[in-house]
Amino acid sequence: MKTIISAKEVEELLRNGGGLSSLPADAILTPSARDLLREFENNGARPDSIKPVGPPTAAAASSKIEAFFNSPEVHALKLQLCEIGRRLWSRAYVDGNGGNIAIRVAEGMALCTPTLVSKGFMKPEDMCLVDLEGNQLAGQKKRTSEILMHLQIMKRQARAVATVHCHPPHATAFAVAGVEPPTCMIPEIEVFIGKVPIAPYRTPGTPEMGKLVADLSDHHNTILMANHGVVSWSHVSVEDAYFKMEIIEAYCRTVVVAAQLGTPLKTFSQTHLQDLLKIKQTLGIPDPRIGLKECELCNNDEWRPGVMCPLPPKQTDAPAPDQQTEALVQAITDQIMSKLQTGAAT
Ligand SMILES: [Zn+2]
Repeated sequence: MKTIISAKEVEELLRNGGGLSSLPADAILTPSARDLLREFENNGARPDSIKPVGPPTAAAASSKIEAFFNSPEVHALKLQLCEIGRRLWSRAYVDGNGGNIAIRVAEGMALCTPTLVSKGFMKPEDMCLVDLEGNQLAGQKKRTSEILMHLQIMKRQARAVATVHCHPPHATAFAVAGVEPPTCMIPEIEVFIGKVPIAPYRTPGTPEMGKLVADLSDHHNTILMANHGVVSWSHVSVEDAYFKMEIIEAYCRTVVVAAQLGTPLKTFSQTHLQDLLKIKQTLGIPDPRIGLKECELCNNDEWRPGVMCPLPPKQTDAPAPDQQTEALVQAITDQIMSKLQTGAAT
């Protein structure tokens, strides 16, 4: 008995990847089944009604995201990521494929750099789109493994529009030594950054690392990561977040060089710091020190530059008597005293 194939069965066959050749040779096709197969053969594609896609809402959302990801506006931001990456690399703030950058692009979404690509040589098509949980929404390359840290800052700071993470050597040296950079030495860092804390070490890319950094982001826009590097965030732009890297690295480098000059480092006064904090306020940059008493500012008690060795004590002109000379003097004295006593007795 010959098999009769309906349109529904043909749809099922095509959905599962089958073709005409998989039908029995003597099968009889219903007219609608024949139309469906003809359409498949003529167009070289499966009819829309039987394309193997997910639920219509998910498909629509995904094509909307792709359109957004490929829009001219997002392309301009991808170019900014390439440019900031190039600057990080050319100033030796990143090594190998290290460092990563993120920009908040829409409600609940961020554009970020890929993993395993040098920041100096990124192309716009390398960039990735993620949601705030770190799930990749678009992009051909895999997103950076350290994205969770950037996203935790963005989730915690509604004002954060961009984040930069890198490993500039002088600032990272402070993070390795566990020494917070001293304050009240150069105005630039006081105005644009402020005090720089150190987040405890955790394995890079873990949610714990992200949380420890995000906890400090309430009061600090630039944070040292112990035994790792630096992260900054900005409420202005990705370039502004990058500028904080230039400022912290130049500052730490200057302090390290100055500490080698063999004289205690000078600081400006607490009154002068108050003036800088006023400027900072007018620029809309928060600082937990605004409103503190002067005596609470410029506290560098923990600053112990390791190269400040004390000079050896000055030598006096008279050489110190050695033990042998002292014994000789004593023996001669004893002999003279003994002769004097003998003479007195006779
Ligand atoms: Zn890193």
